[in-house]
Amino acid sequence: MSTVWEKLDEKGIAEVHAFAKDYCGYLSVSKTEREIVANSIKLAEEAGFKPLKDVSGELKPGDKVYANNRGKSMCLFVIGEKPLTEGMNILGAHADSPRLDVKQNPLYEKEGLVLMDTHYYGGIKKYQWTARPMALHGVVCKKDGTSVNVVIGEKDDDPVIGFSDLLIHLAGKQMEKTGAKVVEGEQLDALVGSVPLKGEEKDPVKANLLKLLKETYDIEEDDFISAELEIVPAGPARDYGLDRSMIMGYGHDDKVCVYTALRAILDMDRPERTSCCLIVDKEEIGSVGATGMESRFFENIVCDILDRQGLTSMKNFNDSLSNSKMLSADVSAASDPNWPGVMDEKNTAYFGKGLCFNKYTGSRGKGGANDANPEFIAEIRKVLADNDVMFQTAEIGAVDVGGGGTIAFILAGKNMEVIDAGIPVQNMHAPSEVVSKADVYESYRAYRAFLKDIR
Ligand code: MN
Ligand code: MN
Repeated sequence: MSTVWEKLDEKGIAEVHAFAKDYCGYLSVSKTEREIVANSIKLAEEAGFKPLKDVSGELKPGDKVYANNRGKSMCLFVIGEKPLTEGMNILGAHADSPRLDVKQNPLYEKEGLVLMDTHYYGGIKKYQWTARPMALHGVVCKKDGTSVNVVIGEKDDDPVIGFSDLLIHLAGKQMEKTGAKVVEGEQLDALVGSVPLKGEEKDPVKANLLKLLKETYDIEEDDFISAELEIVPAGPARDYGLDRSMIMGYGHDDKVCVYTALRAILDMDRPERTSCCLIVDKEEIGSVGATGMESRFFENIVCDILDRQGLTSMKNFNDSLSNSKMLSADVSAASDPNWPGVMDEKNTAYFGKGLCFNKYTGSRGKGGANDANPEFIAEIRKVLADNDVMFQTAEIGAVDVGGGGTIAFILAGKNMEVIDAGIPVQNMHAPSEVVSKADVYESYRAYRAFLKDIR
């Protein structure tokens, strides 16, 4: 039996498709880190989780709480029977995905067109983002303290925006360039308008657009200075493949691990060890900032929980982290027959074979990797076998072909056991990524088994 599909009976396969349908619904409305956090809070509250700040006093086994960091990262806990100082079982995934961020002074008019200037976020092949429908998501924060949420390009009758590419007829010189230069960063300006305001002399199209923004959203041009607007692929995630076995959508990296990890912790009732799920921001640009994994936010929340139990020493805090075990839930590269030669076939992830463990990531001799301890891997193997969960092991590419990083090393640096464990993806970092439904479901089962049974 080599794939999850072959392991499952009819009922199991129906569960795979049902889970995938729920995930598609979540992914289609969760394109930014803010939307991920808002929609995850919604699901958590439906499952009985309460904001930690609204709960007073000591937490008891079975209590379900979450903490929201600036609407862009969060952590969830289900308190276990054992004291927190004996460690947590942690799942950590990231909510941010590659995209085009709108600059602070974005709008300009040229040749009767208005364009919106962007700066790309995360690692992208820039040419992949042209000539396709894009949506504008984000928030505009105004001087009066209010903010306006923006989602344009997702409803059927919404307009979309996009980045133009040169017609093939005139692209002789462009086609001779290397891939990295075929489309360059400053060419990724979105076309957003072409109607002039009657009677306006200077930049009439821009004037008309600003008038529209004022009327619709009550925002001025200056308000872009304090905005966080992300241009992302428009449209919902959907079934992929004639047999509907896969899902194509924007942002599987790493929203597919966010969703599966979230569903796993929502299932926890009264675990032996405290369950924790981290949903963090900024992984794609180095896990930096107050909402990235490097932030003190998570540790501050652990201190808060310990404090409530009267466990206030530095030792209590250190023990809580050192005794914890973590799956860094981040996607891995799926093998692709169209692109042979970049993988070591024995150590590669394949669609349909379940959750993928990367003992290490990094590049050039494991540089920057968390290299997981074999004792920990053995323990996980036992738990997954006991729970009848399929998994595979892989490296991100053959030696010296490339590489990647995750949040694993950051948590490992707090002296806990960590291994990367995520879902294989094709087209990673492209506007439309692909995952196998079987892997999505099996990974959810693996995460649940990890939270429940790791000691
Ligand atoms: Mn990732
Ligand atoms: Mn990534």
